[in-house]
Amino acid sequence: MKIDVLTLFPDMFSAVMSESMMWKAREFGLLDFAVHDIRDQAANKQRKVDDSPYGGGGGMILKPDVLVRAIEAVKSDADAPVILLSPQGRVLTHQAAAELSRQPRLILVCGHYEGVDERARELAISDEISIGDYVLTGGELAAMVLIDAVVRLIPGVLGAEGAQHRDSHANSLLEGPHYTRPPEFRGLGVPAVLTSGHHAEVDRWRRQQALKRTWERRPDLLENAALSEEDRAFLQQLRNEAGD
Ligand code: SAM
Repeated sequence: MKIDVLTLFPDMFSAVMSESMMWKAREFGLLDFAVHDIRDQAANKQRKVDDSPYGGGGGMILKPDVLVRAIEAVKSDADAPVILLSPQGRVLTHQAAAELSRQPRLILVCGHYEGVDERARELAISDEISIGDYVLTGGELAAMVLIDAVVRLIPGVLGAEGAQHRDSHANSLLEGPHYTRPPEFRGLGVPAVLTSGHHAEVDRWRRQQALKRTWERRPDLLENAALSEEDRAFLQQLRNEAGD
């Protein structure tokens, strides 16, 4: 996958994109990442990229000519989605990240100040994504969240040991609890099934713990989960025990 990011703050990306899984994805040739400074497309000496809003009011707006030029400078492929990070976009979910992870190319545009001129949005943006119902100062952190959520789903990035198919939200369930050594810590042990060596029993326990945790914390997710008869019976048992 190739990801291009357009930003006014290119240095913000260097630490995140050169550590951990993002480093590995780039090192293994699974991700080609480039960051472009929107300011390079400013036509004036002062490298001015923003201006005050028509109609008055506070804040500054990213200029349409500069932003559209910056997008056109990287968009060699007419079909590549150009995604504006925006609190007004569709909210990033596991499903959206999975869909984006199948794209060969993404162009991410980070807004700043009060936002971008509406005409740049109309002319050059094909999608808008929000990372949640709150407002950030700029789109850079949102772009990094999106990149991380998407890139870890590219086959090969997490490797065989990565159990991303069991991760929270992958199947509209939350993942159950984890344990590692020591077998006892401050008086707390480890569920016996996990040290029993019975793989089928471990899988069954993990499934039930995922169902239980989802039912306790995010019952809304269960509406979209693919549930077997056994899952449904287990959930009913939980409801009965709780007196629901
Ligand atoms: N005035 C805008 C509004 O009310 O919709 C908010 C602008 S915000 C201060 C500046 C930039 O931060 C946005 O253009 C966008 O790129 C980014 N941003 C802010 N909140 C975001 C969110 N929840 N998800 C994604 N990007 C966000």
